[in-house]
Amino acid sequence: MQIYTKILIGMAVGAALGLTLGPTSTMLTPDLFKIEDASRITLESEPNGARLELPSCTGGKNGCIELRLMVLDQLMGEVADKAGTRYAVPTHTKVEFEVTRKLALVMGDLTPLGVKAAGETATAWLVMKNTALDAGVLTTPIPISDTGDRIISAISPIGKLFMRLISMVIVPLVFSSLLVGIASLGDIRKLGRMGGRTLGVYLLTTAVAVTIGLMCAHIVQPGGFVAEEDKAALTSKFDSAAGEKSKAAASAPSAIDNVLNIVPKNPVESLSTGNMLQTIFFAVIFGIALTMMGATESQIVVTFFDKVQQAMVVIIHIVMGIAPYGVAALIAEVVGTSGLSVLGALLVYALTVMLGLILHAILVYGGLVRVFTSIKVKEFLNAIRPAQLVAFSTSSSSATLPVSMEVAEQNLRVSNPVASFVLPLGSTVNMDGTALYQGVAAVFIAQVFGIDLSIADQLGIVLTATMASVGAAGVPGAGMVTLAMVLTSTGIPAVGVALILGMDRILDMFRTTVNVTGDLAVTTIMAAAEGEILDPLTPEEDAADPSRGFERRLEQEMEPVSPD
Ligand code: ASP
Repeated sequence: MQIYTKILIGMAVGAALGLTLGPTSTMLTPDLFKIEDASRITLESEPNGARLELPSCTGGKNGCIELRLMVLDQLMGEVADKAGTRYAVPTHTKVEFEVTRKLALVMGDLTPLGVKAAGETATAWLVMKNTALDAGVLTTPIPISDTGDRIISAISPIGKLFMRLISMVIVPLVFSSLLVGIASLGDIRKLGRMGGRTLGVYLLTTAVAVTIGLMCAHIVQPGGFVAEEDKAALTSKFDSAAGEKSKAAASAPSAIDNVLNIVPKNPVESLSTGNMLQTIFFAVIFGIALTMMGATESQIVVTFFDKVQQAMVVIIHIVMGIAPYGVAALIAEVVGTSGLSVLGALLVYALTVMLGLILHAILVYGGLVRVFTSIKVKEFLNAIRPAQLVAFSTSSSSATLPVSMEVAEQNLRVSNPVASFVLPLGSTVNMDGTALYQGVAAVFIAQVFGIDLSIADQLGIVLTATMASVGAAGVPGAGMVTLAMVLTSTGIPAVGVALILGMDRILDMFRTTVNVTGDLAVTTIMAAAEGEILDPLTPEEDAADPSRGFERRLEQEMEPVSPD
């Protein structure tokens, strides 16, 4: 069975598992509220009685007090939004929870909870704090199933293990293969030409992607499909998280600093923190220096890194062996925790993003591959499928990079210098899917808030979304942070991010797939522009030939190695 067939089965199993046994599945009864940051709630001994505030998170997510609350009773009340529309919302929820050791430690004195020690069960009335968004609308905790939550938490480490294993290879792989690639190019002008072209095509396709996104949003008008109550519920449910996203966007450095930041002060630090642009910069300069030293002088270094690169490729093959299980766990977690409840209100918006992504993939990438290379679009898609599947399930272009590089070199026969230069650059700089989604999201949020966007505003969105996608890291949810930046610079309230947050993780999978497809499409046309002969691998060849593709590479005989 082909690797991608196995991964596809893994995905299907994961999705089924998430839907049936996830925390928000319809098959399990919701019996628990999970609150990741207890500072967002207040506990009261009696409704409107003595209040107990809990401390906010310190030093990242792990510093938050998490509460798992069983629901005993609920009091309903009415609130009105600014427009005067009234909603029925739970005002007080009677809950029971086990006092965790962490909670006991931060509280010190447990008497306000009516208990003596950690491990005991406390009962209290829970009130969600008012949100700053639209005074009057209360945050409603999402009920989930305890069993479902435990099942998904139990399998999630398998997904994390897979992500970590492929991420582990990124820095040594990118550094060694780029170094060897540049050194073996032997011609610095060729590098300059390829660099200029690559950046040009990356930026151009991204600007086209935002434009397609804007057009789709104008044609479909997804903002018109959100009901009034859904608007209030969606924004209030996610507003504090949205605040964090805009705070993160506000601390982003300026454009000049961004360019300066590409030059590392300390390359070892760039490698150890996995700063991709700095790593690329250093590898390129190092490679150029080796070229200038001449082949005899630099041979030993180049050979060393060449072997490092080959070893990393072997690791990828080993890791891809567990890909189907990793993928199943990752998908189960996303599907299981996102739930389908937000889907209703945001369905049209999500479909608009997907429509844009499909159009972009067919028109732009299909067009580029067809016009500029000798291979068929179908052959291209067949050859890159393992990378697309990994991108979809990890939602990270960076994590997919090792697989993309292997796919480009083995399945498409792109040369090492081209693949090792164009792909790492693409995984950080080129995010067409992300940019397109930002175009749709900006128009959608503007429509929901009743803001009219002028042509100048929209040109601004094209520009900022293109720049933002360059700045976004290739990790899950990065596009959401830079979206806040795009919104603010266009005068759309950044808090609008809250509207689409519930849907973000699922859309991230689709846009990351497009991001990676874009990197590989550009790599292919760059190889063709350098006069390389591409030779896409067919599924039959993949199964038959252990020297190419992801199949049977590990079946080769192993030999003991000893130092000379
Ligand atoms: N997850 C995306 C990527 O890695 C970035 C984003 O859109 O959030 O390509």
